[in-house]
Amino acid sequence: MAKTMAVNAGSSSLKFQLLEMPAEQVIAQGVIERIGMDDAIVTIKYGAEIVAERLVGHSDDDEDHITITKDGKGKKYENVVPIKNHQQAINFMLQKLTDLGIIEDFQEITGVGHRVVAGGEWFNHSVVVTDEVLAKIDRLADYAPLHNPANAMGIRAFQKLLPDALSVAVFDTSFHQTMPDVNYLYSLPYEYYTRYGARKYGAHGTSHRYVSARAAAMLGKDLKDLKLITLHLGAGASITAIKDGKSFDTSMGFSPLAGVTMATRAGDVDPSLVYYIQEREGLTNDEMLNVLNKKSGLLGISTISSDMRDLLDVQDTNEHAKLAINIFINRVIKYVGQYVAEMNGVDAIVFTAGIGENSVPVRKMIVDKLSYFGVKLDDEKNNVRGEEVEISTSDSKVKALLIPTNEELMIARDVESLKA
Ligand code: ADP
Repeated sequence: MAKTMAVNAGSSSLKFQLLEMPAEQVIAQGVIERIGMDDAIVTIKYGAEIVAERLVGHSDDDEDHITITKDGKGKKYENVVPIKNHQQAINFMLQKLTDLGIIEDFQEITGVGHRVVAGGEWFNHSVVVTDEVLAKIDRLADYAPLHNPANAMGIRAFQKLLPDALSVAVFDTSFHQTMPDVNYLYSLPYEYYTRYGARKYGAHGTSHRYVSARAAAMLGKDLKDLKLITLHLGAGASITAIKDGKSFDTSMGFSPLAGVTMATRAGDVDPSLVYYIQEREGLTNDEMLNVLNKKSGLLGISTISSDMRDLLDVQDTNEHAKLAINIFINRVIKYVGQYVAEMNGVDAIVFTAGIGENSVPVRKMIVDKLSYFGVKLDDEKNNVRGEEVEISTSDSKVKALLIPTNEELMIARDVESLKA
């Protein structure tokens, strides 16, 4: 049966999910980390329980590097091996999928969908990768220097190893290309937009697209008739206003650094403060960007961790942890309020991604502060993790939904729709 691979290639890592299409069944998922090192880590989960991840105990034969689930249905392959580059990583992974009996041969993979971070104004939907598309992805490295080159490297490596598979690029920014100029332009000299494409592009588009479609299905309405605010709250976090079925505004900006407080990213900061700090600390541009991307956000404020779980654990005894949580909540509700105003109302707010899907207290703190526009949390319904459910009360004027995101499925669907 035809299989499609959804790929997310980073500079030193490669995440993948293999799906049976059009059945939309996940048959394997994995990650190769530390590409370029002698001790790269390869993890592949497969079998019936891969999503549940109830991996305990070891198989009899430890040399296989395979652990099995309690009920014997799911398996996890884990190994540390030298891997020089992406090409080797993909080769190793495909070979391992064959050895493990997940695929019979490489030809079974008929489509590969690649997550690409920056699509600029060139791509407002997913496309089959041609030389021209690849050249544009290369050129867009200006907008996403940490991501696009790695994404392009992943595309090229797969094309070499699976020349017959359809190669598709799925852009993080595409969904947001529907934003009106009033929302995507900065109040800067207009010529910077025409000359350099200086504008808001947003990110997490595939996730916002997926959860908004699911929200419409859950509410039994046409997406076009709904005003939604989708809250993708993970290590990276963004909030999107969706009107008439389209992205209307989003919190990330020219890059994913803008918007709400994130795990290690600062979110919105007065730009003049950046120069002020940079000068006093004697930081180069790259060092300053590194502070804003890697040392700020929850980590920067709390000084102890970038992980919301750690902060929630100690919030009663650690003032900085409490402050970081409060600032995170504050920024989220500010954006939601802003988007209610921009859309002149909202029908539902949607929680997704690591924090949004898993944190009962964070969802509660957010919804409780939004009661003014008529959203009421049902504490019992909210007491869940990672399920697709409504978490507002039945009489809540505005609905609150919990929808686990599934970017890989969205990527696989885009590949499928471009196969015709
Ligand atoms: P990304 O895809 O941006 O790397 P995820 O969407 O996987 O991030 O989210 C990861 C984050 O989710 C972690 O940094 C962690 O803070 C948060 N998270 C996961 N589980 C929980 C939980 N139970 N409570 C609070 N936060 C959680």
